[in-house]
Amino acid sequence: MKRGLVPCIITLLFVYARCQTTEPDYSDLREKMVKEQIIARGIKDRKVIKAMMEVPRHLFVPEKYRKEAYGDYPLPIGFGQTISQPYVVAFMTEAVELKSNYKVLEIGTGSGYQAAVLAEIVDSVFTVEIIGELSKRARKVIGELGYKNVFFRVGNGWYGWKEHAPYDAIIVTAAADSIPSALVEQLKDGGKMIVPIGPQFSLQFLYLIEKRKGKINTKSLLPVRFVPLRRQ
Ligand code: SAH
Repeated sequence: MKRGLVPCIITLLFVYARCQTTEPDYSDLREKMVKEQIIARGIKDRKVIKAMMEVPRHLFVPEKYRKEAYGDYPLPIGFGQTISQPYVVAFMTEAVELKSNYKVLEIGTGSGYQAAVLAEIVDSVFTVEIIGELSKRARKVIGELGYKNVFFRVGNGWYGWKEHAPYDAIIVTAAADSIPSALVEQLKDGGKMIVPIGPQFSLQFLYLIEKRKGKINTKSLLPVRFVPLRRQ
C-alpha cells in the first residue's frame, strides 16, 4: 500500500505543478471580454468589435500581468503609466466613427494596444509618446505582430504631429487640462477627436470634439480616469 502511495503523490504533485504553469487560453478570455465588457455594454460598431477580438491584448502588458490582461480594468505598463480598461478603448474607438481609409493620430502610445486596435480598422495610425522606452517597446510588439500601418514618434503630443496632418480622427489617451489647440488645428474639417479632460488624478470626462467649417462642437460623454497628458 505505502509503496503505491509515493508514485501517486508524485503524479499528483506533477499534475498540480503543470496546472500552475500552463498559460490560460487567451483567445477564450478575449472572446469573453468582448462579449461581457464590450458588446453587453452597448458597443455596436462591428469594426470595433472585430478589432477587439483580433488584437492579443495580453502581449501588450508586462509578463507578470499577462493572465489579467482581459480583466475589466486598466493595468500598469511601467513608468507610472497604464493601459486603459478594454471598454474605454472600445468606447473611444467607436466614438470617432472610423472608416477604413482614415488616417488617425493617437496621442499617448503607451503599450501600443490602442494603436493596434486602430490599425485593424483604418489605413494608417500615427502615434506619439513622450516616454522613449514605452514607444520603443510598443514599436517592438506591434512590429512582431506584423502591423505595417503604425508610425511612431517620441515627442510631446500637445503639439500633435504636424508633418502628417490633417487627420480624419484623433484619439488622446492621457488627460489634458484643456483642449489642446494644436490638435484641433491638425484635425480635418468634418473630423472627430476624443480626449479626456479634467484635473490630474481626479474626475475627468471624455469629450468628443467635432470640427465643422472651422468651428468646434464639444460634447461630454463619459466620466473617466486617465494619467495626465504632460505639458513637457
Ligand atoms: N494608449 C495607451 C495608454 C496610454 S497611457 C495604450 O493603449 O496602452 C497614456 C500615455 O500617454 C502614457 O504612456 C504617457 O507617457 C503618455 N503621455 C503623457 N503625456 C504625453 C504627452 N504630452 N505627449 C505624448 N504622450 C504623453
